[in-house]
Amino acid sequence: MSNSNSITVPIPSHGYDMHTHSLRSDGTLTPSELVQRAHVAGVRVLALTDHDVTDGIAEAQDAACRLGIRLIAGVEISVTWQSQTLHIVGLNINLERPELQQGLARLREFRQWRAEEIGRRLRKKRIEGAYEGAARLAQGTIISRTHFARFLVDQGYVRGSQQAFKQFLARGKPGHVPGRWATLEEAVQWIVSAGGQAVVAHPARYKLSVGKLRQLLGEFRDCGGAAIEVISGSHTPDANRHFSDVAKEHDFLASAGSDYHGPEKTWTDLGRLPALPDGCIPVWQDWDIKNTLKPQINADI
Ligand code: AMP
Ligand code: MN
Ligand code: MN
Ligand code: MN
Repeated sequence: MSNSNSITVPIPSHGYDMHTHSLRSDGTLTPSELVQRAHVAGVRVLALTDHDVTDGIAEAQDAACRLGIRLIAGVEISVTWQSQTLHIVGLNINLERPELQQGLARLREFRQWRAEEIGRRLRKKRIEGAYEGAARLAQGTIISRTHFARFLVDQGYVRGSQQAFKQFLARGKPGHVPGRWATLEEAVQWIVSAGGQAVVAHPARYKLSVGKLRQLLGEFRDCGGAAIEVISGSHTPDANRHFSDVAKEHDFLASAGSDYHGPEKTWTDLGRLPALPDGCIPVWQDWDIKNTLKPQINADI
């Protein structure tokens, strides 16, 4: 007879979420709360992918062990490519690798300077105390534009986050500071050096022309990139379909992630992702995770 520790069950594809944030970057849940919520939502394999930092992984890992779900160590690296900011997710990374950690530390230094510069630029628009306000909301972790957006909402300058970006923080707006993030090659190299797989995050968000997308994917492949996020919580269903075709056409593995930032944020919730379309090869296909997990009592929630 099997007991609950030896029964193994295949994981339904919606049981994977390869892109989430905690309050160690611009999410609002602690790593433990995030894992708890993912567990309740039926996620069985969860990647924590905070922006430019891996500080939350240890806490998430502990929570995941307690709940019997699999935590994948991840990170979402900010990249400047042709004057545009792109995000490259690294999955299944070894956190100890110095090349990755030194690279991320450099990005956090730029991020700190940028936060102060955003504060100075907003002051010129008669918005006082934005840097201090954003830093307070960040609670000692990296300061993201998301924290500036929350400050602008809290202080009544705008009605919602979207408006904060549209009016102040998006490219070309008064509080925007052009990125000097990692190059595409550096980001992929750091991930690969840490034994991980590099994934182009939410490709539909960059609004690239067909030619530029081809160029990006070519360069990404040449420097060791493995996958693209076919399913993203921030994609439309059409975009999911389109990038499923792109992944197949260009022979990339496919990833799926909610880009969850917390219960207040729009986009999609944890554990609510559509399955990867037929013919896509999941980025997790060679990971040692299949049939290794205890069955979940509440996996059908
Ligand atoms: P940063 O890395 O500090 O430049 O901040 C980028 C983060 O801001 C993204 O990861 C999103 O979480 C958030 N963000 C970007 N654009 C928008 C938007 N239009 N509305 C709401 N949040 C956004
Ligand atoms: Mn974010
Ligand atoms: Mn992103
Ligand atoms: Mn993200």
